[in-house]
Amino acid sequence: MSIFRSSRLIISKIALVFLCFAASYVQAFAINNKNTCESESAIITSEYDGGGMSQCSSIIPTIFRLVIAPEDENAEQRPPWYSFKVTNKDKEMLIVDVNYIKGSHQFDPKISTDGVNWSRLSKDSFNVSDNGHRFQMFLPAMDKPFYISAQPILDGAQYDRWMDSLVARGAVTKSSIGTSAQGRPIYKIQSDSDLNTGKYLFLIGRQHPAEVTGAYAMQSFVETIYSDTPLAREFRKQYGVISIPLVNPDGVALGYWRNATGKLDTNWDWGQFGQKETRVISEELKKFKTRGTLDLFIDFHGTYDNELYTQFGKMGEWPSSFTKKWTSAVKARLPNYYYNHKKFSFTERHPGSTEGGSANQYVYNLLGTTTIIYEEGENTPKAVVEQKGQVVAEEIMRVLLTSGTN
Ligand SMILES: [Zn+2]
Repeated sequence: MSIFRSSRLIISKIALVFLCFAASYVQAFAINNKNTCESESAIITSEYDGGGMSQCSSIIPTIFRLVIAPEDENAEQRPPWYSFKVTNKDKEMLIVDVNYIKGSHQFDPKISTDGVNWSRLSKDSFNVSDNGHRFQMFLPAMDKPFYISAQPILDGAQYDRWMDSLVARGAVTKSSIGTSAQGRPIYKIQSDSDLNTGKYLFLIGRQHPAEVTGAYAMQSFVETIYSDTPLAREFRKQYGVISIPLVNPDGVALGYWRNATGKLDTNWDWGQFGQKETRVISEELKKFKTRGTLDLFIDFHGTYDNELYTQFGKMGEWPSSFTKKWTSAVKARLPNYYYNHKKFSFTERHPGSTEGGSANQYVYNLLGTTTIIYEEGENTPKAVVEQKGQVVAEEIMRVLLTSGTN
């Protein structure tokens, strides 16, 4: 990035001139997250799974303007997702001016040449302005195409490879339980207890596409359950585990923020089931009314900070003081571990709806199961997310094994 530094002053001056243009830009936008624009200097595209930008235009060959908007008129205005791929055609640096329509800047840009290994764009390579409604990036000329993304891309193909690796190890079976509105498979991975106890944990993730840190937490949690440790082996004797890591495959592929293609927030759709994705998964949950016991349900998300939504006291948390027991044990092992503990409501409905509630509400009301919404901080480094996911999984397994369940 040394080229960048030497040219920063010139680029900044160009950018100042450009700001004058952009102020008069018409704010109308079409909600289509897949776009490509090209100049003599570069091609910028979001036409790949996970890609997302609502408009793209070249102002002059080295300056591009992007518009970032939520997927539909109903969408909540966070967390804002953007992801695009840049191909330099010459050795010119680029200015990319990103404008949010609804919502504001949440994720500082990450860069990757292979879509797998990511690093943060250096702080002096971008500048946030207009109370977070705009940011400008100064991108280096690179020989290889590279991705710029709000968070690392974790798309359906990567989930497939991960689930297939668990199948190859003999840890789980993988099956499609149905398809999304656009026909993408919704996969379940499952293991049954060695002793046929009929006891299960049920884990879901990625209801909200932009919440990648929650997805990392879930993957680490699942890997820990299937690890070759005495604790995990003993746990798997007693408990089966069902995981649906990618609840909203369309939203992830399309670069959405929160919703599925039915224009509803996936985690306010339980009970009303206005979208195919929640309907498909509810059928899996209903099986527990007549078969087996669901002892714990965890729904993984990401938000501003670490949060746990759990049920309290009379609402049937089991084993008794379950959350207190495992969080205390985690704190003893990870001194920096903290979370905001919130009670979740069993009756709150989405504004404007009399039916739609969260997955946790639905599971508790259907089965009386102990439930957790596990929210991972959006800016937590991946290695820390994974370490926490591992320790949390271990301490939850320990409490369930020592306390017994229903
Ligand atoms: Zn969420």
